[in-house]
Amino acid sequence: MRIVKLHKSNLMSFLEEISQESELWAPVKKYEDKHIFKNIEDFDQIDLDYTRTILPPKKLLFPPSFRMYEATPKKFHADFSHISKKTLFGVHPCDIHGLLIMEQFFKQSYEDPYFSEARKNLTIIGHSCWPDEHCLCRSTQTHIVEEGYDLFFTDLDKNYLVWIGSSHGDDLIQLKPDIFDEDVTEKDIQQFMRWREERDKAFQSEIQFEAMPDLMELKLGDSVWEELGEACLACGSCTSVCPTCNCYNVRDNPVLGKEASDITRCWDACTLENYSAVAGGENFREKKSDRLKLWYTHKLQAFISKYGKPACVGCGRCVATCPVDINIKTVAQSLQGEKVDAFWRRLNQEVTQ
Ligand code: SF4
Ligand code: SF4
Repeated sequence: MRIVKLHKSNLMSFLEEISQESELWAPVKKYEDKHIFKNIEDFDQIDLDYTRTILPPKKLLFPPSFRMYEATPKKFHADFSHISKKTLFGVHPCDIHGLLIMEQFFKQSYEDPYFSEARKNLTIIGHSCWPDEHCLCRSTQTHIVEEGYDLFFTDLDKNYLVWIGSSHGDDLIQLKPDIFDEDVTEKDIQQFMRWREERDKAFQSEIQFEAMPDLMELKLGDSVWEELGEACLACGSCTSVCPTCNCYNVRDNPVLGKEASDITRCWDACTLENYSAVAGGENFREKKSDRLKLWYTHKLQAFISKYGKPACVGCGRCVATCPVDINIKTVAQSLQGEKVDAFWRRLNQEVTQ
């Protein structure tokens, strides 16, 4: 892997060059401190001073809803028209890890053609970040990333150190070779080491993920799940914002009088009531407590047993999003026996009002 240097004043001209070849997507402020990844038309919109976007970049590879194919009684026609050549700039390490987990899921036993085609057409340019109080990526070891990107930019004041992670990344550098400096000096290296050290000290939250599989097993029948179930609003937001959640539903949308039918794929969430409903009216996880238990079993136990790491990349989105403070952090804390002053407090407030 090669590392080069880019003066910050050259960033926009580099991005402009890239945008000649593909759609450029980057973080943009939506409102207050909320950001989204957006197709960039005006370069002034790009805002790299963000911690997390509302939705993770999975939406580019696995859109919330798209037409998979059109079917008639005799044939079907696969539809890839939602896929285009894109460059995603400004992705943080945790989200790159999230995309790697999605890739593992969509390619492991049966390769999903929609995901694969979208991935083939996506260039990933990462960007370094600074943690806020919700970030948990040091506990998941996803605050650093060694694969899954074409280029990775680390912000060092006046310059970027740029990691070249693929041959395509090298081709991008060759679009404007004159602006990249091969001479990374000892001073640059020392500055990078100081940045790493300070960034590591800036983390405010942590979870002991190693203890979680045993705690999930030991506390499967604990009353904490009933209390969580009572507080949960079953809104599904935690699942939608999570970069590693990949469940979907496939719907047939017949139109009266039309022979062809559109088959669409849309995001689904195991935290929603209909997720486990089956024909005949049965629902295997009617209770919110059972659905939360399933979500956290997947994140904190099952995925670790199979892949040796949690299905959590520590992005903090569930922490920032859940309206009743049920999230990876409060659940882990309560499994560890801590009295969590979060969903409990909200629940008590509601009861006494
Ligand atoms: S469980 Fe929460 S913190 Fe972990 S990856 Fe999902 S949204 Fe992010
Ligand atoms: S845990 Fe929170 S975000 Fe998730 S479904 Fe329940 S209320 Fe919504």
